[in-house]
Amino acid sequence: MQFFDVVVVGAGPAGGHCARLLAKSGYQVLLVEQHEDFEKNNFSSAASPLITLQQYNLPESVVSRYWQNIEIISSNIQRNWQAKQPLGVVFDFAKLRAFLAQDAENNGGVVWLGCRYLKYFDKNGQTTVFLQRKGGEQFTVNTKLLVDATGYSRTVIYPNKKDKPSFLKGIGIEYLIQVDEKIHQKYSDSLIFFLGYKWSPRGYSWIFPMPNNQLKVGTAILEGQHKFIQKTKPIKEYIHQIIQDYLKLDKYQVIDIHGSILDYSPGLNDIYYKDHVIAIGDTVSTVNFLGGEGIRYAMKSAEVACRYIEDYLQNNHQDFRSYEAELKQYFSRRWNWSEQISRKVYLEYSDARIDQGVSYLRYLSLDDILDILFYYKFEKYTKGLKGLLFRKIQIFLQYIQKKIHLS
Ligand SMILES: Cc1cc2nc3c(=O)[nH]c(=O)nc-3n(C[C@H](O)[C@H](O)[C@H](O)COP(=O)(O)OP(=O)(O)OC[C@H]3O[C@@H](n4cnc5c(N)ncnc54)[C@H](O)[C@@H]3O)c2cc1C
Repeated sequence: MQFFDVVVVGAGPAGGHCARLLAKSGYQVLLVEQHEDFEKNNFSSAASPLITLQQYNLPESVVSRYWQNIEIISSNIQRNWQAKQPLGVVFDFAKLRAFLAQDAENNGGVVWLGCRYLKYFDKNGQTTVFLQRKGGEQFTVNTKLLVDATGYSRTVIYPNKKDKPSFLKGIGIEYLIQVDEKIHQKYSDSLIFFLGYKWSPRGYSWIFPMPNNQLKVGTAILEGQHKFIQKTKPIKEYIHQIIQDYLKLDKYQVIDIHGSILDYSPGLNDIYYKDHVIAIGDTVSTVNFLGGEGIRYAMKSAEVACRYIEDYLQNNHQDFRSYEAELKQYFSRRWNWSEQISRKVYLEYSDARIDQGVSYLRYLSLDDILDILFYYKFEKYTKGLKGLLFRKIQIFLQYIQKKIHLS
């Protein structure tokens, strides 16, 4: 039977990066992915700030498009911010994951695509992992450590679906559409986000640029009862609405429709480790629930995990308690805030309140907006409120001056 130091299940950004780092450190690592190729579950919109490339040593070949403008649109308000140089990327999600797996392989790792993880059992400090190739027989490999990087499905950590606790659930669907060159040019450098009842009740929508005259148009909704809205339309209808009423397209070609689920553990109460299993990425809710940004955070968790995994492999012990503590220390404050804000904005606010919120953004600079959208520094938002207060005081003083002048 084949033996590996570590078996990583799931070749998303978390699993791919984890396998890549362990292979680079000289460990015998196996990365298994249920899909046969990375185009199969190409579900992510995959926008990220520019720093992700440098931080995770990623080549330009995994970038679909650079962006430099941001637009936020609610039912009645529109705000935009522009830069002279690129601020971020939209990844080619398939190429990104393929690159990570290939890099793991180039450094001595083993990658099996089209190979599904089934179950494991522990005996005498060794873990036997049951795998199955599509249409093939079950077979086993042995390992010292199993990594659950299966995303929201958390397949390794929760062998029985019925044992899963309830999660905060988001569902996202995205169309990849082909438009004519003139339309594409108009949107080719911008990330556009939609909020509010008109475009996206119970969630948010987006248009992200892709190359070759293509655009990604998507909608994500949060499951749960809305304070004011009784019933929403099927998600796809909001996407059609953006295409028809915002982009004003009669003619376009749908290249692909994809989507996925975000299952987020409120208060970050996931299981981070048990037996000889450690969990990374969306399996431990590293995706930000407010904006659905998760790629670089999945990779961040892999990086933190790898330090503890290496310690475990070298010393043959490590209960991974410090791994959980370190991740929680990194994420808790901003992620708990994001969770609370997402519940309020997506499930409680009136449309007028959302319009008002977007309207206040006019007092914020591009840097403030980036800090809020990508670094979750919500304290920056109060600058908008201060700006509003300042304007109201100015209007009041002008009014008093006028009164004095008249009398
Ligand atoms: C619609 C949508 C849009 C998004 N847009 C963005 C965005 O713009 N920017 C951003 O940063 N993030 C975005 N995200 C979030 C981001 O894609 C995720 O947070 C990220 O992919 C999580 O990485 P991961 O490796 O933890 O999990 P995943 O990417 O989910 O990878 C898990 C892998 O495990 C595999 N797997 C599962 N079970 C098994 C099994 N039994 N055997 C073998 N393999 C298995 C799966 O096939 C999958 O490939 C979006 C998410 C959605 C749903």
